[in-house]
Amino acid sequence: MTEKTLTPTPRDAFDLLMSGNQRFVSGASEHPNQDAARRTETAPSQKPFAVLFGCSDSRLAAEIIFDRGLGDLFVVRTAGHVAGTEVLGSLEFGVAVLNAPLVVVLGHDSCGAVAAACSALENGKMPGGFVRDVVERVTPSVLTARAAGRESAEEILAEHIEHTVDLLLERSRVLADAVAAGRTAVVGLSYRLADGSAQLVAARGLDALVPAAS
Ligand SMILES: [Zn+2]
Repeated sequence: MTEKTLTPTPRDAFDLLMSGNQRFVSGASEHPNQDAARRTETAPSQKPFAVLFGCSDSRLAAEIIFDRGLGDLFVVRTAGHVAGTEVLGSLEFGVAVLNAPLVVVLGHDSCGAVAAACSALENGKMPGGFVRDVVERVTPSVLTARAAGRESAEEILAEHIEHTVDLLLERSRVLADAVAAGRTAVVGLSYRLADGSAQLVAARGLDALVPAAS
């Protein structure tokens, strides 16, 4: 794939992203596309190969953990990767206007938003202000996981990531159509803070992805 001219396939985009993560994990980051030449090249227009929708956590800096640079990732982040209408509109912009072939939902262990939803369920006390809105949007994932007997923090996190992937496709006709047409895939990745690795936990629109991923 030549990054400059062709729109990568969803599979190419996924491989590009994961190879960057592997470099980051092993301490071999190359910091691609972060120089003045790339800045000049991308100033007239952008053609990101992936839309990244992740948690706002300060340790999840997208271009660092996937070893990418300018013009590579169209990034939307909210606490606990909860999705309201502005988020959906931003993701649709990335897919329908910028033609990104991949949407990534990025969650992580020790997520404060997930922990807050768990503790709100346990003690019955909701946080105030608009933090409450975040917690309310994470709560269905926690309830679903628990109802299925998936009680560990890792299982609850995986449920929340997968729930978010499905929520995007349920709520956004634009995303669902792009996936149905094979133009875009939506995947869920679970990031481990300690070692920096991102694991695939959900994939929609790219059935061959899971066994072939390395
Ligand atoms: Zn988080």
